[in-house]
Amino acid sequence: MNTTGKVGVIGLGNMGRGMATSLARAGHSVLGYDAAPGVAAALADQGVGAADSIAALLAEVDCVILSLPTSAVVEQVVFGADGVARQARPGLLVIDTTTAEPASTRRVAAALAEAGIAFIDGPVSGGPKGAATATMTMVLGGSSEDVARAEPVLAAISAKRVHVGPVGAGHVTKIINNMLTGIHLLAASEAVRVAQANGVDPEKLVDALNGGSGRNSATLTNYPTWIFNDRFDSGFTMKLMRKDVRLAEALLDGAQVHAPVAQTAARLWAASEATLGDGEDFNRIVQFVPPRD
Ligand code: NAD
Repeated sequence: MNTTGKVGVIGLGNMGRGMATSLARAGHSVLGYDAAPGVAAALADQGVGAADSIAALLAEVDCVILSLPTSAVVEQVVFGADGVARQARPGLLVIDTTTAEPASTRRVAAALAEAGIAFIDGPVSGGPKGAATATMTMVLGGSSEDVARAEPVLAAISAKRVHVGPVGAGHVTKIINNMLTGIHLLAASEAVRVAQANGVDPEKLVDALNGGSGRNSATLTNYPTWIFNDRFDSGFTMKLMRKDVRLAEALLDGAQVHAPVAQTAARLWAASEATLGDGEDFNRIVQFVPPRD
């Protein structure tokens, strides 16, 4: 890839928007496309150009980042009439940062390879703030050659990158990460309820846990950043987190792994749907008190 060439970003939501502006800040020439009208044009003052269609974007770029809600949308963007597989020139590099299904990812990568298009999966952690400040962690699946080729683009959006294996391995790793996030939030919320019931202040509890071995990502990050201050504005929705929990369940089922803790957590996340809407912040799960069996 010509590392000074243009980079396209398809999907300019909470994450894609930040990636596009980080790329522009790092000196890349960036073109964005989003299915929602006006979203790409709104980034003009941050150095991101707007494409009217995926085909128009593909005509100008050497590398495309996808930041889309689900694998179904990725497949639509890749296999649609106006999509990447039909419209892109051979030699394009696609980096899929969507949290997606590994089996779909492998299918997409194989189809693109037939068209001479390289693909790596590079799902992300760090939330919208990490995307906007280029401090995300990325877990990469793909050939060493393609990962090396992507490096100038990846370096402009992330602070840490771990190449975990071939295509699909990034998405497997990300799903496992979010499975733990889902477990950590539920476990920490139980700890907080036990503390309250025993007269211990939750903020003092979490402060103490964070100096001890009981700490986890929920006590270190979620409670102090979005829960205790009642902000619940992480930029990561219940809808997307429930998708990740379902992907984790499918991963466990597919591999026939016995994982009772993860399976219980998945059941609780699914049950929360009755009282916590898809548009809510995912941290609201700590307010979900499951009914007794
Ligand atoms: P989002 O819903 O805010 O953004 C998705 C964007 O994709 C929207 O702007 C939507 O209009 C656009 N889109 C939908 N269909 C499209 C299509 N066919 N063509 C072009 N654009 C289309 O979601 P997000 O929070 O930015 O998350 C994006 C991905 O990153 C998801 O897979 C999510 O699981 C993952 N992720 C999110 C976070 C987070 O904190 N938000 C963190 C890590 C990973």
